[in-house]
Amino acid sequence: MVVGGGFGGLSTALNLAKAAPALPVLLIEPQERFLFLPLLYELLSAELRRWEVAPRYRELLAGRGPVWLQDRVSSIDTNRQELITEAGRRLNYSQLVLATGGRPSTYGIPGVEEHCLGFRSLADVERLQQRVQQLKQRQHPLQRLVIVGAGASGVELACKLADLLEGAAVVELIEQGADLLPQARSFNRDQARAALLKRDIRLRTTTRVVAVQADGLTLQRDGEAAGREQLPCDGVIWTGGVVGCVPALTPALELDRRGRLLCETTLQVIGSEQLFALGDAAHSADAGGDEHPATAQVAYQQAACVAANVLHQRRGEELEPFIWKDLGEMLGLGIGQATLTGMGFTLAGPAAFQLRRLAYLARMPGLQHQLRVAGGWLADWL
Ligand SMILES: Cc1cc2nc3c(=O)[nH]c(=O)nc-3n(C[C@H](O)[C@H](O)[C@H](O)COP(=O)(O)OP(=O)(O)OC[C@H]3O[C@@H](n4cnc5c(N)ncnc54)[C@H](O)[C@@H]3O)c2cc1C
Repeated sequence: MVVGGGFGGLSTALNLAKAAPALPVLLIEPQERFLFLPLLYELLSAELRRWEVAPRYRELLAGRGPVWLQDRVSSIDTNRQELITEAGRRLNYSQLVLATGGRPSTYGIPGVEEHCLGFRSLADVERLQQRVQQLKQRQHPLQRLVIVGAGASGVELACKLADLLEGAAVVELIEQGADLLPQARSFNRDQARAALLKRDIRLRTTTRVVAVQADGLTLQRDGEAAGREQLPCDGVIWTGGVVGCVPALTPALELDRRGRLLCETTLQVIGSEQLFALGDAAHSADAGGDEHPATAQVAYQQAACVAANVLHQRRGEELEPFIWKDLGEMLGLGIGQATLTGMGFTLAGPAAFQLRRLAYLARMPGLQHQLRVAGGWLADWL
C-alpha cells in the first residue's frame, strides 16, 4: 500500500507495478491530480497549461496496475498494521510506503496562517494569478508584493512575479540568512543575483519576519538594536520552509526537528520494519551522516530504492541502502529564463530554460503523458 501520490509515492507505485505486475498495489491520494511542483511557476505565468503540469491520476494510472483510492489517511497503527482514512475506511496492510510529503512551516509566527499566500497547490496558483491581475488593474503608486524566504522557491517565484507584474508592483524578498540560495551552486547563485538585479527585486538578508498583518509585515534585522520595522505591502507569499506532513502514528515513532520520520539507510522507518518512508516526509542520510535534501530529485530516486526493498522484503532477501546521486540543480529565473549546473556543465538563459523543460519532461510520470506534453510543446513552436 502506498500513501501519498506525489513524486515519491506515485513513482514507487509505478515502479512496483512494473517490477511485479502480479502484486496488488493500492495508492491512497486525496487529490484528483498529480502536481508536478517544479513547474508550478510556469503554470502561474501561463507558459504551461494545467493538464501538462497537473495530469489526472485516473489518466496516469489507467491500465498501469496500481489502483487509486481517492481518500486521505488520518492515522496508522503500526502494531496492528492498519490505517484509517478520513472517509472512515479501515484497511490492513502487509507493507506500507509513506510518501505524504511536506507542508509549509509557519514557525508559530503570528499572522502567517491568516494573511500569507502559499505556493504549493493549484488553488495557490489561482489566488496568486488573481492578486497579480488586481495589482495590474489598480495601478496604485508604490504597490508591493513581499516573498518570505530566498531559497529556490522564493527566488524563482520573485523573478516570475516581477515579469508578470510588468512594473505594476515592487517585488521584495525577505531572507533571515546571510545570503540567498544557501544550498545552491555558486554559478546558479550568481545568475539568480543578476536576475533579481535586472528586475529591481529588492533582497533583504539577515532580516526576520516577526509578524504578518493584513496590510504589511513587521521585520527585525539581526544585530540591530534599533528595533523593528513596519513594511506595508499588498500581499505576502510564504516560502519560508517545509516540515513533514505525517499522519498520526500509534505507537508514536521518532520524528526529527522538522517533523519527518527517521529512516534507516534502507528507507525503513526506525521502529517499524514494514513501514517505508521517502521524500519530504522522511529524514534519510548518507553513510557519512549528510542529510538528503527535500527535493523531487531525491524523492524520485528514493522511489526506485523503496520499490526494490519492498520486493526484497517480501522475498526474504537483504535490503539495499539508498544512495543518492546528485544530478545537479536547475532554477527558473523569470519568463523564458533559467540557470542550471550539473553533470559537469553550467548554462544560463533561454537555452537553459528549454533544457530544464526537457529534463522535466523526461521525469513526467508515464510515457503517454510525456508524449502528449511533448506534442503540445511542438505545436506551440511550429
Ligand atoms: C513550488 C515548488 C517548486 C519546487 N521545485 C523543485 C525543483 O525545481 N526541483 C526539485 O527537485 N524539487 C522541487 N520542489 C520540491 C519537490 O517538489 C518536493 O521535494 C517533492 O515533491 C517531494 O515529493 P514527495 O513525494 O515527498 O511529496 P509531494 O510531491 O508533496 O507529494 C505528497 C503527496 O501526498 C499527499 N498526501 C498528503 N497527506 C496525505 C495523507 N494523509 N493521505 C494520503 N495522501 C496524502 C498529497 O496530496 C501529495 O499528493 C519544489 C517544491 C515546490 C512547492
